[in-house]
This record gives sequence, structure tokens and C-alpha cells, in this order.
Amino acid sequence: MGAAHHTLDCDLLVIGSGAGGLSAAVTAAHLGLKVIVAEKDPQFGGTTAWSGGWMWVPRNPLAVQAGMVEDIEKPLSYLRHELGEQFDEARARTFLDNGPRMVEFFRRRSALQFIDGNVIPDFHGHTPDAATGGRSICAAPFDGRRLGERLHDLKPPLLETTLWGMGIASGAELRHFLNAIHKPASFWYVTKKVLRHWRDLLVHRRGTQLVNGNALVAGLARSLLDQGGQILTSSPATRLLKDGGRVTGAVLHTPHGALHVQARRGVVLACGGFPHDAARKQQLLPHAPTGNEHWSAGNRSNTGDGLRLGESAGGQVASDLLQAAALAPVSLVPRMNPGMEGSTAHFPHLIERAKPGLIAVTARGERFANEADSYHDVMQALLAATPAGHKPEAWLLCDHAFIRYYGLGAVKPAPMPLTPWLGNGYLQRGDTLSELARACGIDAERLQATVQRYNAMALVGRDADFAKGETPYNRIQGDAINASARGLPNPCMGPIERGPFYAVKVVMGSLGTFAGLRTNPQGQVLDARDQAIAGLYANGNDMNSMMAGRYPSGGITLGPAMTFGFVAAHHMAGLAPEHSPLNSNP
Ligand SMILES: Cc1cc2nc3c(=O)[nH]c(=O)nc-3n(C[C@H](O)[C@H](O)[C@H](O)COP(=O)(O)OP(=O)(O)OC[C@H]3O[C@@H](n4cnc5c(N)ncnc54)[C@H](O)[C@@H]3O)c2cc1C
Repeated sequence: MGAAHHTLDCDLLVIGSGAGGLSAAVTAAHLGLKVIVAEKDPQFGGTTAWSGGWMWVPRNPLAVQAGMVEDIEKPLSYLRHELGEQFDEARARTFLDNGPRMVEFFRRRSALQFIDGNVIPDFHGHTPDAATGGRSICAAPFDGRRLGERLHDLKPPLLETTLWGMGIASGAELRHFLNAIHKPASFWYVTKKVLRHWRDLLVHRRGTQLVNGNALVAGLARSLLDQGGQILTSSPATRLLKDGGRVTGAVLHTPHGALHVQARRGVVLACGGFPHDAARKQQLLPHAPTGNEHWSAGNRSNTGDGLRLGESAGGQVASDLLQAAALAPVSLVPRMNPGMEGSTAHFPHLIERAKPGLIAVTARGERFANEADSYHDVMQALLAATPAGHKPEAWLLCDHAFIRYYGLGAVKPAPMPLTPWLGNGYLQRGDTLSELARACGIDAERLQATVQRYNAMALVGRDADFAKGETPYNRIQGDAINASARGLPNPCMGPIERGPFYAVKVVMGSLGTFAGLRTNPQGQVLDARDQAIAGLYANGNDMNSMMAGRYPSGGITLGPAMTFGFVAAHHMAGLAPEHSPLNSNP
């Protein structure tokens, strides 16, 4: 006899509350299904709540509205060129056909709204049919007060990427924050936001001006709750329930004991992949020989549960990806906040690398990459440049003027102080380059030569070594306004001239993982014979990435996660998304 347990029933059980789970949940609830979302953490949102909230959705309605119309063949061709032999046309077409439908549904019927990314280019401007814009959208800012009491169940943004817990949106808002002590208009913008944030902290004990991934999760959660869906926190799924060959639900480990949830239509695994599963990392990430040499910035509870649950029902985890994780340079931040002392945050370097006046060097004192390329490409280059038996580590290095204007990793720009970061060892400083090299363990002579060469190239604006600043993506990540004000011809290159000089060490990390359960285009998990397992779906990073371990553009995890969630919900409701009642006039 098993121990006593409670039971619940529903149409759809979603395991995990990031974009992968919530997109399916909200769509299914709108289609009239009874939905339960089970979340392992005390708060919902996962890595999605920490993310930039950008979604790659070619041909999206916001681009079309702005007159940026392209045939499906264009993004299809870009993907075909980028993914090579592993290009899966059926999945790519399902994604490209349904992405626009997904956006149209959410913006017309749900609390989630979008802003366009019409000026954001694809990562690889030299690949045929790369776009210079019109393929990205982001979650629009969201007033957290609309979540009512559930606001406290929403995972706040990753503290180190915020200002006192307040998220900062990319684009115009970030520019205001960088210019806060330089321009009166920016000063007032920032002052107003900060004052409102402090009031929020007093009244609500957390920020309510939600942006980026936090706004994405909040919008999705609000929509689900509005449709009568349930979100159970602190309730990890520990086992799937089966009946014959069909998955019929799961056992949750809740604060009130075991809960057996029966799901009539299906279970969606959306536990966010395996960024913190040492055994799977050891197996799939060659740079992590013991499984521990990879410091993902993803949510710490993403320990590979979804992949194991899927395997327990016969699912297969792909092991043939070019790269099993969405790589990113990560620095290890000693936490100083009360209650967090002794722990380490994994800070992903997404913003400052392309700005004029920063280089990345190895301990040999040499550059190894175009620093303005995507986080993933920079780390692939680091792996390639690291001799066997050495650790893939690098230093991001800049001068005083740079760090005070842009900050460096977790170190914020002026007027925020540098002292705490120097004190806890996160930031290294040297009055001269040699002194900095000694502090970091970098070859001082080579570093001098590297910086000298780089400075000369920066003045003429041409990176003869790594072609920095030569793609539209590089240039938009750079800072054309600041560079031209300083008479610099390349928005990504500025000389590193006047000490003191600073450096932060970066190690191998990721934004999440790519390798996941093999699925068909509808998101159904496939068994070893490529047959769909009845009742079992995977989404988000539990679904093997359709990008096959490549990283063609920003937003290629959240865009597909949102889209395949929409598709899977239709499939289990017995509907074709192209004839969705959600996209006909209400
Ligand atoms: C700083 C940062 C910025 C990023 N920016 C972007 C961006 O702009 N665009 C983009 O496309 N990608 C971005 N990413 C990557 C992206 O956030 C992730 O790939 C994505 O959020 C993964 O979504 P998911 O739904 O698969 O997982 P998650 O959002 O991590 O959700 C998974 C959830 O499942 C829960 N869970 C785990 N195990 C169980 C269990 N047994 N039972 C129940 N629940 C469980 C976890 O606690 C978690 O809440 C960024 C990542 C980071 C770190």
C-alpha cells in the first residue's frame, strides 16, 4: 500500500512555470481546457523571469504593421544556412508559420503585450538572408500591481542585473541610466523611476515596474489566472503517471504532501533544461569534464528534472548538437547583501562587451574573439583558443573612463561606488597595465602589446584581427552616439588609454541549455522509434532546440518556447493552429 495522497484532475498539467510552460498553459486555458501549472520553486517564472524577454519571431505582426513584410522563405533560408545539415524543415516551418499567430493571439486576447525590435539585426549579418531588423519582439513593461497578491509569487529579476532590485529595459531606458549624470533629461527620467521604485519597496516590498522577462512572466501569469488556471508553487513533479503507453499525469511533492494530478489531455514538461544538472553537463558539455566547470546563469532549480521525467516514459535526449548549451561569458559575483553572504551569483555579460573601449584577453594577454559578437560566439571562440588541459577563462578589460560610463559586469556605472567590488575581489585594478596584468595573472608583456595594437586599430576604426564592428549586430550592440562624440569611426572600438585599468574574470557559462527531449513539430515527445508518446509534450529548454546547437539570433529560445507552447496547446485540444478560434474575431 502506498502512502496516502491527495488527487486533482485537469485537462493539461504543465510542469515548470517559465515561458515554455506558461505559453502552453495560457493558450490551453483560452481554448477552454482546465489547466494546472506545477512549479518547483517557491516563486514562478524560472530563468524566463531573469531574461531579457526578447523573442525571435520572424514575420511578427508588429514588424508587418511597421511595413517590414518578408516572405517565409527568407527566414527559412537564413535558418537553412545557419543550421546546415541539422536543419529540420518541418519544425522550422511550424515555428515560422505559427510564430505570428502566437503573437497575434497574445496581443489581442491576453494581458501580455509586446514592443517591437524592428531595428535588431540577426547575429550573423554575413549569412545569406540575415535580417537587419523586424524579426524580434520583447514583452512590453507590465505594472506588477495587476498581479495583486500573486505579485509575491513572481520570481524577481536577478538582483545583480538590476538597480536595487529594479529591472532596466534595454534600448532607450538603458541609455537614460548610462547618461543619468551626464544629461538633465536622463537624470529626471532615472530619478522618477528610482523614486517610484523606492515607494514600491515601502508599499509592496518589491518593485512593480516590471520589464523584460519579468514582464513576460507577469503578463502570462495574469492571463492564466484570468482564465481560471492554477499555479501551484513549491510543488515539484517527481514522477509521471502512466496508463499503458499513455502519460496521464504526474505526482507532485507539495507542502501538503503528495498530490497526484490526473491530466486528461496531456502533460507538458517545461522544467528549463539541465543548466544545473552536473551529471548531464558532464555527459553533454566537453568543457565541463566533471560537470562542474560550467556556471550557468539559468535558474538554480533547473536541475534536469524534465529530461529525466521524459526519459522515464521512453523519451530521448539529443546528444548530437553542435553545442548543448546557449553559451555566455559569466563572472562569479560574491554576494554581499544581507542574508546572501557566502553565495555566488552567476552574472552573464550581455551588454558591455561591444561598447567602445573594452577587450577580452586570455591569461596569455591575447585577444581571442570579436568581443562584439554574440555571447555564444565569443565563448565558442574562447573554447577554440584554449589549449588542451587549460581552463577556458578570460578577462574583460577596460580603463577608468569606460567603467565609470558603462560599468563592467555586476559593477555599476558612476555614481555607484567601485570600492566594494575591489574589496571583495570581483574587480581587479592596476594603475598601469602591467600592474593589472600581475593582479590577474595575465602575461604583462603580451598584454601591453595587445593593448597597443588594439588602440592603434581603434583610432582608425578597423579591427584587422577580428573584424569587430563589421556586422549590423556588432554595430547595434556598440555605441555609435558615444563613439562619434569622441571622434571614433567604429562604434565598437575605443582606445584603452588612461589608467587606472580594470578587469573582471569570465568563465564558461550559459543562458540555458539547448539539448533536450526529441519532439515532433507539435511538441510531442518521441520515443526511441520516433513515435510520439501519447499524452507527453516538452517545451522550452526541455524540448531539443530547433536550432540544433546553433545561435542565429537573440531570442531564439523564448521565441520558439512561446510558439511551440501555442502549437502544443492546440494539438492537445484537437485543433489546428491555422484554424485557431483564438485568432478569429471575438
Ligand atoms: C540574464 C538572461 C537573459 C536572457 N535573455 C534572453 C532573451 O532575451 N531571449 C531569449 O530567448 N532567451 C534569453 N535567455 C534564456 C532564456 O531565459 C531561457 O532559455 C528560457 O527562459 C528558458 O525557458 P523555460 O521555460 O524552458 O525554463 P525556465 O524559464 O527556467 O522555467 C523552468 C521552470 O521549471 C521549474 N522546474 C524545474 N524542475 C521542476 C519540477 N521537477 N517540477 C516543477 N517545476 C520544475 C523551474 O524551477 C523553473 O521555474 C536569457 C537568460 C538569462 C539568464
